[in-house]
Amino acid sequence: MKITEIHVYQKDLPIVDGPYTMSTMTLHSIDTTIIKIITDTGLTGWGEVTPLGPNYQPQHALGARAALAHMAPDLIGHSCLNTLLLRRHMDALLNGHNYAKAAIDIAIMDLIGKHHGVRVCELLGGATSERLPAYYAVGVGNPDESARTAIEKMKQGYQRLQFKIGGRDIATDIEVMQKIWETVGRKVQIVADANRGLTATQAKQFSLSCRNIPLIMEQPCNTMEEVKSIRSQVCHPLAIDENLESIQDVLRAISMDVCDAFGLKISRLGGINTMATVRDICEARAIPHSMEDTWGGDIVSAAILHVAATVKPEMLEAVWTSGNYIEEHYDPENGIAADSGHFNLPTGVGLGITPDESRIGQLLASYS
Ligand SMILES: [Mg+2]
Repeated sequence: MKITEIHVYQKDLPIVDGPYTMSTMTLHSIDTTIIKIITDTGLTGWGEVTPLGPNYQPQHALGARAALAHMAPDLIGHSCLNTLLLRRHMDALLNGHNYAKAAIDIAIMDLIGKHHGVRVCELLGGATSERLPAYYAVGVGNPDESARTAIEKMKQGYQRLQFKIGGRDIATDIEVMQKIWETVGRKVQIVADANRGLTATQAKQFSLSCRNIPLIMEQPCNTMEEVKSIRSQVCHPLAIDENLESIQDVLRAISMDVCDAFGLKISRLGGINTMATVRDICEARAIPHSMEDTWGGDIVSAAILHVAATVKPEMLEAVWTSGNYIEEHYDPENGIAADSGHFNLPTGVGLGITPDESRIGQLLASYS
């Protein structure tokens, strides 16, 4: 099964009830890049990459499309069945840019699943569950509105709620967290995610002032070194997310003993196969982790679910996709969205997503 055509599309995904606010940005819509790979067998595979705006991380939408334009002509004729050789070929064509390679990797895994008549999760070792726990992420808000959302989402079945903090007076973040704790208590796991937005001093102030709350602090500061510097001085378990851009970063975080848990993003790490490698490293070292991505549509959401379904259940903290935050699904029948605080694993072969091509945006480039 060889690649004969690659088509690249762009679409803006509007955010439900937007804008969505984090410590470093406010977003009304997300720029996603979709790829369609056609093979000499007639099978079609779908991939997607959706950086969260241009200043969340070094990855950005134009960068993804430039990297794909650079690699795509040299991928024509390559076998889809040899994923390791394809990965090495992409690395030889272009240094870094794991997020653009992730879109190719996802499409290739979709194709291999369809070729063998199995789901992607079965290519990765098998699903432990058809229903996966979701977490809900709540943008930076004031105490009353955050507490209201916490109650609403708890009633919908979410057992883990993540609240964005940072980018403002730390006293307000503390006030918000105390209000949430008064409102929902131990009924849900509370996570405070600063997305790198706190100084070490602010992170310590936040933790000491919330020592009565059994929350998890996620990515409080910018670098692994800053997070490591506060680890022994805070009252809460620490997770890192944005600092993990490669397998090498994962190994470095483990060797530095920088945190208690990981937030893993499939595109940033390089796709389904890299995510599966990190899954195995986490299992070997008993590191709990969430599986998620930097937003995106049904294609990348399905990819996350297939990997997450193969994680040892004790290690899987929760799953996040932006399916509930995006107004439109590419696949009107099998679109990904959480229901009662859980995601259902897609049932069809490959990723289990069949995009309606009228919903995938504008065709930007074709290679054959
Ligand atoms: Mg995070």
